[in-house]
Amino acid sequence: MRIILLGAPGAGKGTQAKSISNKYNIPHISTGDIFRKNISERTPLGIEAKKYIDNGQLVPDELTIDIIKSRLVEEDCENGYLLDGYPRTVEQAKALDVFLNEREANLDTALLIKVPREFILERMTGRRVCPSCGASYHVKFNPPKNEGICDICGSDIIQRDDDAEITVNKRLDIYEAQTHPLIEYYKSRDLLSEVDGTQAINDVFESVSKVLNELRK
Ligand code: ADP
Ligand code: AMP
Repeated sequence: MRIILLGAPGAGKGTQAKSISNKYNIPHISTGDIFRKNISERTPLGIEAKKYIDNGQLVPDELTIDIIKSRLVEEDCENGYLLDGYPRTVEQAKALDVFLNEREANLDTALLIKVPREFILERMTGRRVCPSCGASYHVKFNPPKNEGICDICGSDIIQRDDDAEITVNKRLDIYEAQTHPLIEYYKSRDLLSEVDGTQAINDVFESVSKVLNELRK
């Protein structure tokens, strides 16, 4: 299956992606995680991307499109993938279409996790992440079993620099202006599906599974 997860920052894409990737056995590809790994390793890509990410801005399309194209030709993507955080602009969506057309491949769906803006600030400012494995927690809604420690790999969890309140508001404005139009983009291609992301995490996953199971029939 080839799936795109759509939704505002903080909607729960990364949280659901971990479960989807396990259940449907497809790699979870997060451009945010790729950038953060490069930042922590201080690669040239990381140094460039950090300038934008710390400000809550999008990394330029040319750079992001190259990154995703080189990731999607890796062997583990042969039987599908789950994109989390890509595409974020219409330009990126068009580049993905070209990439897929060249390979005579199709998307199964662009799955929107729908969460109104008033829920997002609390989700993002309370988010804690594992810098090693990318797992996402929340101080109130999804705390780790042992405070401050990742359930999956045992690393210390941290707050992302770009989850400070001022940056969150900027990211949400950029989402509205640049990423929200993708909902119409995929709707007009008859590829959009959606779930109510305001439910509890397990209930969102149940809704997601229903949508994906229908597609596999
Ligand atoms: P995204 O990848 O879309 O930016 P995350 O998956 O990192 O979002 O989720 C953002 C924050 O909200 C995290 O702290 C996560 O634990 C929490 N969260 C995710 N889904 C839910 C939910 N359904 N209800 C409450 N909190 C949630
Ligand atoms: P995320 O982990 O998806 O919240 O992404 C964190 C940050 O990485 C975003 O706020 C952007 O600055 C950058 N980023 C991630 N994916 C993309 C993308 N597809 N296009 C541009 N910038 C991106």
